[in-house]
Amino acid sequence: MTNKHILLTLVLFTLSFFVSKSQTSLTSNLEKHVYTLASDSLQGRAAGTIHAQKAANYIINEWTDSDTDIHPDTTFMYSFGENDKYQNIVKIITGNDEKLKNEYIVIGAHYDHLGVKKGEIYNGADDNASGVATLIELGKALKKNQSNLKRSVMLVAFDAEEIGLVGSKHFINHTSATDMDIKLMFSIDMVGWYKASGAVNYAGTGTIKNGKELLKNPNLIPAGLNVSVKNFERSIFTATDTQPFAIKGVPTLAVTTGTKSPYHKPEDDAHLIDYEGMTLITEHLINLIGHIANDTEFNASGKIAKKHRENQLFTFGITGNLGTNYHHYTAGATDGKTASSSGIGLMSQVNFGRFAIRPEVYYEILNAKHPNGDISTNNLTVPISLVMQNMEGGAGVDVFLGGYYSYRFNGKQNGEKIDFVNTFNRNETGLTFGFGFQVKPFKIGFTSRQALTNFTQSPNSDNAHIRNRANYFTVSYVF
Ligand SMILES: [Zn+2]
Repeated sequence: MTNKHILLTLVLFTLSFFVSKSQTSLTSNLEKHVYTLASDSLQGRAAGTIHAQKAANYIINEWTDSDTDIHPDTTFMYSFGENDKYQNIVKIITGNDEKLKNEYIVIGAHYDHLGVKKGEIYNGADDNASGVATLIELGKALKKNQSNLKRSVMLVAFDAEEIGLVGSKHFINHTSATDMDIKLMFSIDMVGWYKASGAVNYAGTGTIKNGKELLKNPNLIPAGLNVSVKNFERSIFTATDTQPFAIKGVPTLAVTTGTKSPYHKPEDDAHLIDYEGMTLITEHLINLIGHIANDTEFNASGKIAKKHRENQLFTFGITGNLGTNYHHYTAGATDGKTASSSGIGLMSQVNFGRFAIRPEVYYEILNAKHPNGDISTNNLTVPISLVMQNMEGGAGVDVFLGGYYSYRFNGKQNGEKIDFVNTFNRNETGLTFGFGFQVKPFKIGFTSRQALTNFTQSPNSDNAHIRNRANYFTVSYVF
């Protein structure tokens, strides 16, 4: 071995010592945060309780006590909600490029959990002490690296996620965030079960130009970390703090190791967390955010997950319906017996928040029992409805009321063509009303329809004026 080799060995040894030391301290910091936030003394951090406030104080202390240069105005807590019972905590790391510093990367993690139920404490170590621990360490690392950041980074510990994304909704709707140019939002939610899930997942790469390449960039991924990506958040049953941002058109990434942990169970405890995995994820995020903050090419793709497309002015879809139809006699004793109705067509909707206008067009076959023989008509029907809806994140309910026009282009009675010149009317108008519910991309509804115009041109002795009445279910696929 030459002296050169000995020197090199020494240098490498010293380097690896420092690298492993910094890793160790990151790991032990993450561990400390999770054990503190998920300890029984914090009683599950239910939003609006003194225990959630303790958690909030812990986060703000960690950020302001860090050994980096402290500007007190860059870390603050603000209260909101009834009696100011909720708190979001914000840390701003201002970028150093004159222009780009006005653009923000927002990194969020919710710190509340479920509290105590039936005497059992839900500590929420994975959900979401793990995300908050990561957020705290990201805040410290990025602050240290502030002089190398062109864009600004805003870290937010959200309150009240578990009770309906209250903290993140408040942040985006009631603070100066409404005027902020947010380039990208990360929500770190449940990142403590890396080994069990085999990868950290970033859902939402489709919202960013070249998002997949960016997230899979090997130069940014620490050795040993497996990264998986999803173009868009898909699950209609889960939501995280990305939602209120995505609805505003902000590109979002949901960062998670999935639901391998005892999700929303009292067993979600600190000793089950994979701290080595969290260390790798935190290192990846530090690299990634550092890179994005300086990437002048970084931009939104303009695409947004289906389940986040709430405020689209226009929506449209394909629709099918199946139900019954019968003849209602405007004079005389009885109504006709029911027969089937079916149709297929297109629906569209123009949305104005709570209200919408829904024009549809479909081809339908209406059957009816008639004393002189069963009648079947082929129709082109155009309903237009006024809709009242309560939609949130692509799911919700609606009720509607409207009218329709129907053109019978042909029809048969007992297999014989029916006569639209002398016996029956070609055109029909009437009223529709009904209700529906939607979990994007599907929509299911019920419609009741009543003709206001007569099917027969003139009444005869055994047959008073008759009008169609249809009741049917609709299933639509909304694009
Ligand atoms: Zn969560």
